[in-house]
Amino acid sequence: MERCLLCFEELPAADSWFSFLFPKWVRPVCRTCDEKLERIQGDVCECCGRPLSSLSATYKKGALCLDCVRWGQEGEVLEKNRSLYMYNDEMKEVMNRFKFRGDAVLIHAFANEFREIFRQYFSSYEVVPIPLSTERLEERGFNQAELLAMLLPVPMLSCSLVRVHTEKQSQKTRKQRIAGSSPFSFLSSDRFDSKNILLIDDIYTTGKTVRQLAVMFRERGAKNVSSLTLCRS
Ligand SMILES: [Zn+2]
Ligand SMILES: [Zn+2]
Repeated sequence: MERCLLCFEELPAADSWFSFLFPKWVRPVCRTCDEKLERIQGDVCECCGRPLSSLSATYKKGALCLDCVRWGQEGEVLEKNRSLYMYNDEMKEVMNRFKFRGDAVLIHAFANEFREIFRQYFSSYEVVPIPLSTERLEERGFNQAELLAMLLPVPMLSCSLVRVHTEKQSQKTRKQRIAGSSPFSFLSSDRFDSKNILLIDDIYTTGKTVRQLAVMFRERGAKNVSSLTLCRS
């Protein structure tokens, strides 16, 4: 007997029968939970992967959202971001259980789709999960980005990238947040010449973190830097 990974309800037999016929599409999530999640579909911003249908005409320009038009004016460093789901209330609850209550198993609910989107856009990329600070890693016991990267059909690229512990963003003033420099650094002289680097994380919010990292990887020779996240706000 199989249970939904999100609500633990028993999955109906019909679903098992379906998954027997179509094992590629097996998703250990019940229909009720599935319908509450908001999968990103249709036309998306070519750069950040935001659904364009939800934006008013004044907030998009051609195939880009206005945020990415602005990043472009400063010299865009990120090739593209793609995300599977919108960070809606249901997904917030899922992430809360995953990250803060340590329910790491439930990430497998998204394994097939995560692999699928990787194959669709990023098969020529080498995978780097965005690191946590040592302090945060000790507190949580695992790095959610690393668990997501482990779902992919390729090994992770080993590099010396680390994140230095900083105060929580919410405890800083707006001015401190904007002035704050990158919390990341490389511990050794890694080179990424002509490599395509794919950064993995759980949530894409403003896109600032992945762009800070894109600058650092490109300074060390990377050809393209993109990101793949489970959800986006
Ligand atoms: Zn369910
Ligand atoms: Zn965009």
